[in-house]
Amino acid sequence: MPTALRTPRTASLSPSRRRTPEVTATNPLNTPFTTVDAAELYQVPNWSGGWFRVSEKGAVEVTPSPGLHAPLRSIVDEIVERGESLPVILRFPQVITGRVKHLNESFQAAIQEYGYGGHYQGVFPIKVNQRRVVVESVAAAGYDYAHGLEAGSKAELALCLAQKMHPDALLCCNGFKDDGFIKLALWGRTLGKNVVITIEKYSELDRILKQAKALGVRPAMGVRFKLHARGSGQWEESGGDQAKFGLNAYELLRVVERLREEDMLDTLVMLHTHIGSQITDIRRVKVAVREATQTYAGLVAAGAQLKYLNVGGGLGVDYDGSKTTFYASMNYTVKEYAADIVYTVQEVCKARSVPDPVIVSESGRALTAHHAVLIMPVVDVTGPTRDLEDLAPADENSHQIVKDMEEILVNITGRNYRESYNDAVGDKQTLHNLFDLGYVTLPDRARGEALFNAILRKIAKLIQHEKYVPDELEDLQKVLADKYICNFSLFQSLPDNWAIQALFPIVPLDRLNEKPTRQATIVDITCDSDGKIEKFIDLRDVKATLPLHEPGDRPYYLGAFLMGAYQDVLGSAHNLFGKVSEAHVTVRPGGRFNIDLFVRGQKARRMIESMGYEEPMLRDAIEDQADAALKTKTLAPGQEQELLEDYGEELLGYTYLEYEES
Ligand SMILES: *Cc1c(COP(=O)(O)O)cnc(C)c1O
Repeated sequence: MPTALRTPRTASLSPSRRRTPEVTATNPLNTPFTTVDAAELYQVPNWSGGWFRVSEKGAVEVTPSPGLHAPLRSIVDEIVERGESLPVILRFPQVITGRVKHLNESFQAAIQEYGYGGHYQGVFPIKVNQRRVVVESVAAAGYDYAHGLEAGSKAELALCLAQKMHPDALLCCNGFKDDGFIKLALWGRTLGKNVVITIEKYSELDRILKQAKALGVRPAMGVRFKLHARGSGQWEESGGDQAKFGLNAYELLRVVERLREEDMLDTLVMLHTHIGSQITDIRRVKVAVREATQTYAGLVAAGAQLKYLNVGGGLGVDYDGSKTTFYASMNYTVKEYAADIVYTVQEVCKARSVPDPVIVSESGRALTAHHAVLIMPVVDVTGPTRDLEDLAPADENSHQIVKDMEEILVNITGRNYRESYNDAVGDKQTLHNLFDLGYVTLPDRARGEALFNAILRKIAKLIQHEKYVPDELEDLQKVLADKYICNFSLFQSLPDNWAIQALFPIVPLDRLNEKPTRQATIVDITCDSDGKIEKFIDLRDVKATLPLHEPGDRPYYLGAFLMGAYQDVLGSAHNLFGKVSEAHVTVRPGGRFNIDLFVRGQKARRMIESMGYEEPMLRDAIEDQADAALKTKTLAPGQEQELLEDYGEELLGYTYLEYEES
């Protein structure tokens, strides 16, 4: 067991965290709310990995390296001042650089610490984020470490081949391959790139040998092995005997035999394994690496001349900052990950008297998640009716049910709240039934519903410090929560939240020296009722609501963090909300920053055309209708031009809400 690089873990390692009742107040003693409280409330130090912090002024700052910091709010303000519209994604290439360094230096430190005989050479699997700024930042930051790239399709390979890479850096070709893919990979070797073709299924070997002969290029190959070990968390199924990719032990030995017959044993250079993404439990990593290294040693014993042991991806990101094996977390650090891999490989190689291989990892998520932040402006707040005073009070004409509810409200105590709750739920049901039958008027219904909400609020207040909360009251916060309507599309910008319940830390960009007074859920501007966020990070579990400030005169912005892996390139055009504008930002000394590049989001026209329509066709159709409308006089003479101009302007406009900021 490597212990030297360990830091003590505080959180529990139990695989699923116990549900504990919601406690709303982080600051029960009514001491002034400080930025320290805010950092704790939103758990910024826990999930940010040091790349973001809450400043003394109560603003979220990006902190790409010691001494460099810039408030996100200032960056957004500058974007708005330039006349650009929100939402926007802020990208920080410096954070990618920092992550690449951190990963490589963690492995280097472990290698030095244990006196490991080989070195580390990572590859970045570009499927995690193929964006130019991401791939180029990884390639540039990784150059001196000979950190390479991994392609999983022809298109990805075409992109990777064009990158400037260290001559030793690996370019791994994973995924199922046709002849075109293989040829492109072989041409890559003639260009002086260290391209390694991974055999994902046995039949690919013949294909590769045939193409290599035809082109007269000596290939370098890896072989993917189906470990019986599995990952943990959401992608557990990626490993194990039923995995989609990889060869079994028998097929592995056949590859060696076949290459021996061809006198090409030296072309098999890598053993490749991958047990899935976001491995939450470090023990799974160790078990898998042990099995992989035993397999490596077995292949060497069979005569293969391997050089690289590729342990695949899986290095996690602690989205909720809980340091547990919960699916949105991980119970280890990057340093511990590197140390445990180096230690395990060394231990097995020593026992099997096999030279220490070059360790390759295909870490993707861990390199790119931190660099991107989605900025969502809050455009409106809706919620359960709060102010009974705004409604007509119950009088002798009010229905008895309304009077009953009023009585419940007045009489709630710490002793009877459960009974009161059940009565109120029953009364509300009756209220609605009576309304349907015509016995309750619309004003009575309004008052009854407001009374119901008031009852729930009163109960929520009574139980907020209780240790034990009855099951039926656990959802109270969610029912009472305000809906913060944010100018973004969940399906375009945070699709993993919708598709696989991924959690992303969400934090207001400023006012963090002010106590948030509201409990909120977030809804997007699509017409889809799934377009909402009702799960938020929590140290013990998942929270149903997010504490937020009452929006004031100044625009109120929320940041969704750690969104730069996978889902960053999966966005879908639901409701024709298109790609979001992006700002690439470099932080400079003295709290200053440069917006190096601003890329406007997709225009409505682009979204419409992507569905097979053509712009001239649309314009003609509108013009024809306008002509007809002139004739029937529904359109006033002289208005046609204005209508067509407005229409044309929207075609060229941003697909998100564009409010003039006053
Ligand atoms: C997706 C993928 C990765 C990336 O895994 P992360 O968990 O993002 O590091 C690595 N290797 C293979 C084969 C993959 O398919």
